[in-house]
Amino acid sequence: MDAVDALNEIAFWLERELAPSFKVQAFRRAAATIAPLDAAELATRVADGRLKRTKGIGDRTFQVIAQAVDGEVPGYLADLRERNAAPLDTGGAELLAQLKGDLHSHTEWSDGTTPIEVMAAAAATLGREYQAVTDHSPTLTVASGLSAERLEEQLETIAALDTGPLTLLTGIEVDILEDGTLDQTPGLLGRLDVVVGSVHSKLRADSRTMTERMLGGIRDPQTNILGHCTGRLVQGSRGTRPPSEFDAEAVFAACAENQVAVEINSRPERQDPPDELIRLALDAGCFFSIDTDAHAPGQLDFLAYGAARAAANGVPADRIITTWPLPRLRTFLAKS
Ligand SMILES: [Zn+2]
Ligand SMILES: [Zn+2]
Repeated sequence: MDAVDALNEIAFWLERELAPSFKVQAFRRAAATIAPLDAAELATRVADGRLKRTKGIGDRTFQVIAQAVDGEVPGYLADLRERNAAPLDTGGAELLAQLKGDLHSHTEWSDGTTPIEVMAAAAATLGREYQAVTDHSPTLTVASGLSAERLEEQLETIAALDTGPLTLLTGIEVDILEDGTLDQTPGLLGRLDVVVGSVHSKLRADSRTMTERMLGGIRDPQTNILGHCTGRLVQGSRGTRPPSEFDAEAVFAACAENQVAVEINSRPERQDPPDELIRLALDAGCFFSIDTDAHAPGQLDFLAYGAARAAANGVPADRIITTWPLPRLRTFLAKS
């Protein structure tokens, strides 16, 4: 088996099961370390032990590489494949099969862990037709939000990438600032395929303040998707956080009126919006986007969780913009 593929696949499965990132990075780093070597050179360095002393290679990764070079599926990978054989969630299997892509993900340009092309390759492997790259906006400095210059640079990088049949959509997860404006210039937002607007600060504001802030973001003509609307955390390493308080009826009415889809955020620690708000948005006539908010390739598989929640709450496939053919989706996003 190809050793680079083995290491990257191990990283994918570890990300999918939410392993700590230092553990995952050991495999990604080892893959990057040996990627420039041809098969014969790699085999020689395994045999004479030089690889073991190479920076970026540890005991575990050396063992994986040695087994792959010997033509075996490394034992560590075989175990992971067995452990992860079942889908993450089967509750929305029929709906999941209809999802064509994902409109919210992060790369190492902000707080994701890998380059754009690694995310794209994983999305293609999962059978997606498109993947949106939506890194953070400038104000979110803790997540290395992109300045206007860095975002322009990212757009050039994406334009130069060949991702085969997978379409990479350009985008941003833009902060809805306290005054309800978006945290990037209108000119630049206008050049992106998709704009996800999210609140990331002052989540405990009173309902009136939060509602006004959210309505500002939703009414901005550039906004396409309202990201993780309550900001709640229900499990995981960051602890829990209650949902923000806002006038959900007013917010969802504005989404329906302004052609802004309500995100069903698939991350297991978010599960946002809560069930009752999904049903309220459905009654308000909203469209939905089931997104992974993946920060690593293995997390792109989280779509199964979002599909299960949409199905459990009776959201019809046609109300989910990520089930649509790409031309119809583009028309929706262009608000034309
Ligand atoms: Zn976010
Ligand atoms: Zn995000």
